[in-house]
Amino acid sequence: MLTLGIIKPDAVAAGKAGKVFAHLEKAGFTVRAARMTRLSQGQAEAFYEVHRGRPFYDSLVAFMTSGPCIPMALECDDAVAYLRQVIGATDPAQAEPGTIRKLFAESKERNAIHASDSPENAAREVAFFFAESELKGLWG
Ligand code: GDP
Repeated sequence: MLTLGIIKPDAVAAGKAGKVFAHLEKAGFTVRAARMTRLSQGQAEAFYEVHRGRPFYDSLVAFMTSGPCIPMALECDDAVAYLRQVIGATDPAQAEPGTIRKLFAESKERNAIHASDSPENAAREVAFFFAESELKGLWG
């Protein structure tokens, strides 16, 4: 199955994107699609719609539009739950050793990577960034 990951602007700006890809591949994910993009205000607001009204929403949208990020469609058995395990807790201070956020995140907000939190959200979020043709075209 597929899930959506995003290497967030903090990790891209810090030159850690390659290390994050390597970590994901070593963990067993296949990168089925990826691109570098800079989210518009409208895209970031729509992507994080579920958090609208939370105290950190405006700051999160500002952070996610602050520079390029790298959305990725990642494939693996049980991809959604497994990617959540591989990235670690939202706050890197709480994340398990060896997780991507423990290794690469700066703070609870600037936490290096996004991962879909349910199969329903994974389907919505993969479709938010990638057309069906991009997911299938390269792989036959
Ligand atoms: P995730 O599923 O682990 O990414 O966490 P959430 O869905 O709860 O939050 C989405 C994103 O909002 C997180 O990855 C952080 O970048 C940011 N965030 C979450 N909680 C906080 C918070 O308490 N303060 C701030 N500044 N940012 C937060």
